[in-house]
Amino acid sequence: MCGVLGILGDTFLTNARELLLLLAHRGQDASGLLWSENDRYNKAKAMGSPSGIRVPSEKAAIILGSTRYPTSGRRVVSTAELDTFVGPFDRGGLALTHNGNITNIKKLTDTHYDCDTEFITDLLHDLLTENGGDLARAFKEFDQRVDGAYSLVGIYDGRMFAYRDPRGFKPLVFGRSKGRVIVASESTVLDMAGVPLERDVYPGELLIFGPDSSMESHSISQNSTHSHCFFEYVYFAHPAARIENQLVYDVRFRLGRALAAEFKRLALEPPDYVVPVPDTSRPAAQALAEELGVPMREIILKNRYLGRTFIARSQAERDAMAKSKYIYLDDKIRGKNILVVDDSIVRGTTAKMIVADLRRRGAAKVYFTVTCPPQDHPCYYGIDISTSSELIASEANVEEIAQFIGADALIYQTMDGLINAIGLRDLCLACIDGDYPTAYARHIQEAVQAQGAVSDCRDYERVIE
Ligand code: SF4
Repeated sequence: MCGVLGILGDTFLTNARELLLLLAHRGQDASGLLWSENDRYNKAKAMGSPSGIRVPSEKAAIILGSTRYPTSGRRVVSTAELDTFVGPFDRGGLALTHNGNITNIKKLTDTHYDCDTEFITDLLHDLLTENGGDLARAFKEFDQRVDGAYSLVGIYDGRMFAYRDPRGFKPLVFGRSKGRVIVASESTVLDMAGVPLERDVYPGELLIFGPDSSMESHSISQNSTHSHCFFEYVYFAHPAARIENQLVYDVRFRLGRALAAEFKRLALEPPDYVVPVPDTSRPAAQALAEELGVPMREIILKNRYLGRTFIARSQAERDAMAKSKYIYLDDKIRGKNILVVDDSIVRGTTAKMIVADLRRRGAAKVYFTVTCPPQDHPCYYGIDISTSSELIASEANVEEIAQFIGADALIYQTMDGLINAIGLRDLCLACIDGDYPTAYARHIQEAVQAQGAVSDCRDYERVIE
């Protein structure tokens, strides 16, 4: 999972960096900007947040930006690695950056790539050469070879283009105003730039924007069904983002309502407070509190100077982050029944720690609610839960997980609750139901089932025949 940005129309590089900061929650490993100048590309990259990218106080006609979350390759450990680990990349006259994950990269190349965006750049460059520089024909062939998720934005022949894989796994939106075009992973970037959101890039659609912001749309590959990642709505995207015409905040609010119905069904002793685990579950907690008629209290506060635990790369790093991640309002906890709302339980690390922290501070009861159903299958499309051994739900049932985290009750969202809250039928739910929408991902699943998972290697980074 990464954030991508494309800007066409004279823009200060410092402004582009500010806009890229709005995608920092999608990838904290490293970030980069690329801009075109006199027929050549310049790049500036930094470890961590885009705020560390150093750019001249100049304008550029086309700019690409990237925030990286490593779902292929390892984390960046030094600035010397930035060139090969984080996009945007360029080959010849082509430059691009992408969000997603290519599942069959090991099948397609023997070359080692630190980042699959560089592989995409190489492959597309070759296909453009073979197809006389025709982007539409090159992408047609690209789709026939590549399996996985890819929402990308690039520059070719002085024009900016955007493409979204035929399933539309990852979000990609665009808008045009006063000679400027912005393509981004999330609509919040457009809001900040004052460019009205025009629409999502359709799955399988190639958009090509000319220097005068004119637009060509090519339908490259169509699937009868799409597979929008449900986890964008639950966890990844900013609540103010609009994806497939759904405001993420509203979806999270509806998830809370659905959870409240589940909680009522269990007829448990009522909570004194509904408490969100910041920040993602706040809208769901508001809805739960309203539905249950009890106050919401923000007694778990986030240490703002830490990143997102989920996108930390190693378990040791996650554990260390989880320990210093939250600060508690001790006075509000003693003797109270507390209903905690979180967006997901992946490894169980954070949930266990929160329940223990609340108990240590004297909570009478701790109920733990989760806005999505148990995730017991790995993701091969760009969320770094890439082996089932990382997922507590793949080895334990709900009661066992409740016991592990030490909660008095553990209440997960139902599948119907999730789907109805998002309001779309065309969803990827593979990490919940194991139904992978693409052929090579199903092949990996079968091979891993036959061979067994290898805990220190992502399933899709193994060589699978
Ligand atoms: S497997 Fe899960 S996290 Fe991955 S794309 Fe599908 S829904 Fe999203």
